[in-house]
Amino acid sequence: MCRPLGKGHLQAVVIGFILIRQAVDLRYVRELAKERPCRLIHACIAGIAGAADNTGWCAIDPVTFESRSAPNIHVIGDACLAGAMPKSAFSANAQAKACASAVAALIAGRSPDAPKLINTCYSLAAPGYGISVAGVYQPKNGLLADVEGAGGVSPADASRDFRAREADYAQSWFATVTAEVFG
Ligand SMILES: Cc1cc2nc3c(=O)[nH]c(=O)nc-3n(C[C@H](O)[C@H](O)[C@H](O)COP(=O)(O)OP(=O)(O)OC[C@H]3O[C@@H](n4cnc5c(N)ncnc54)[C@H](O)[C@@H]3O)c2cc1C
Repeated sequence: MCRPLGKGHLQAVVIGFILIRQAVDLRYVRELAKERPCRLIHACIAGIAGAADNTGWCAIDPVTFESRSAPNIHVIGDACLAGAMPKSAFSANAQAKACASAVAALIAGRSPDAPKLINTCYSLAAPGYGISVAGVYQPKNGLLADVEGAGGVSPADASRDFRAREADYAQSWFATVTAEVFG
């Protein structure tokens, strides 16, 4: 269900982006709250605590990433229960973009589109020798579910050239994600 957003959402997104960037911890958010007239930030910190269930993870709506237990708080990355989508930096980055897009749609009074999210994890087994596993996920039955037939692991009998390309993709992904996250 989508509903109009209030100021609380904007503050939650501010916190979300701060956490996404990983440049600072919540102490910085508390400093921000002193400088800016936004007591909502304090409410959001409390809300983040209230977003975890008894497993310690945060149940979310798979389209908007809004917490199921703390309204107006959107949770991404390792903290959220994302169904089949693994906890990875790749996933967190993809979720950040989908979440930001959903919140922007909500602010504009539109229904957010259901996302299709990709995760790829690379491992460099040796210099110039990469392997990978990939998956595609979409909302289904209140969770993020595998898109059947998409993704998979790099073939066990891949050629040396293929492994070298996988290693290049790994380096290239790392360069991209660190530039996106840290600037
Ligand atoms: C050894 C290892 C290898 C990995 N390799 C890969 C890989 O190759 N590819 C990949 O995609 N992913 C990989 N991952 C997973 C990836 O690191 C995580 O999925 C990703 O960092 C999750 O990002 P996040 O922002 O959700 O959480 P985190 O990176 O855990 O960030 C959460 C931040 O919140 C801070 N924090 C927590 N509690 C508080 C609090 N109360 N107050 C203030 N700050 C707080 C933490 O200090 C931390 O900085 C790897 C993980 C490990 C451990």
